[in-house]
Amino acid sequence: MYENYVLNKQYFIQVIKDLAAMVEEQRDYLTKLDAEIGDSDHGINLTIGFREVMKKLPEWENEDLTSLFKKVGMALLGKVGGAAGPLYGGLFMKFGEPAANKDEVNFLEFAEMFKKGVELVESRGKAIVGDKTMVDTLRPALDKLFEAIDNEVKPLEAFEQFVKAAEVGRDSTIPIVARKGRALRLGERAIGHLDPGATSSHLILSVFLDNLKK
Ligand code: ADP
Ligand code: MG
Repeated sequence: MYENYVLNKQYFIQVIKDLAAMVEEQRDYLTKLDAEIGDSDHGINLTIGFREVMKKLPEWENEDLTSLFKKVGMALLGKVGGAAGPLYGGLFMKFGEPAANKDEVNFLEFAEMFKKGVELVESRGKAIVGDKTMVDTLRPALDKLFEAIDNEVKPLEAFEQFVKAAEVGRDSTIPIVARKGRALRLGERAIGHLDPGATSSHLILSVFLDNLKK
């Protein structure tokens, strides 16, 4: 079942374009969230990064998935400032690795791509679930995806569970204090606020889902 569910390069190119459009749309919202517990730049950082990606994308359309995402990640790494730059840059650089220099992947390889990316965020940022970061979105979502695969849930439904778990993870950042990132210094004052990175991570995964449904 999973082997026959194939995602091709066209899918991933469209996802990249839609990620760029999404960050433009959500820029002010993400920046507002960052104003509450950070330094008001998260949305701005992401648009700067994805504008660079969109500028270069036409040059990359002949690359295989491994090299395409390495380039996307490097562009983000080079342009996005702050904590999110190295984290999202690293995530996308690793994301293409399980594609093994191919132009398409099956659903199991697709799941492995998210695993690689999320593990990079965890190893680079050293945050764990409950620290009020993007890891609160990404880790439970990833666990849910692999749980769904173990239970032989159909691909699209498994992916829906993945994104739903991301949403729950995002919201889990509201009632807690931060143990990583800028919000750390706010102590109890961070309570009651969504973490901007946890929010952008959910939005990013949603773009992948929206395109699966197209
Ligand atoms: P900065 O905090 O440097 O201004 P951004 O505003 O772009 O960078 O991104 C802030 C987001 O980065 C936070 O909301 C949080 O989700 C994420 N973040 C910060 N530090 C870490 C970390 N060590 N591990 C994972 N995510 C982190
Ligand atoms: Mg910030």
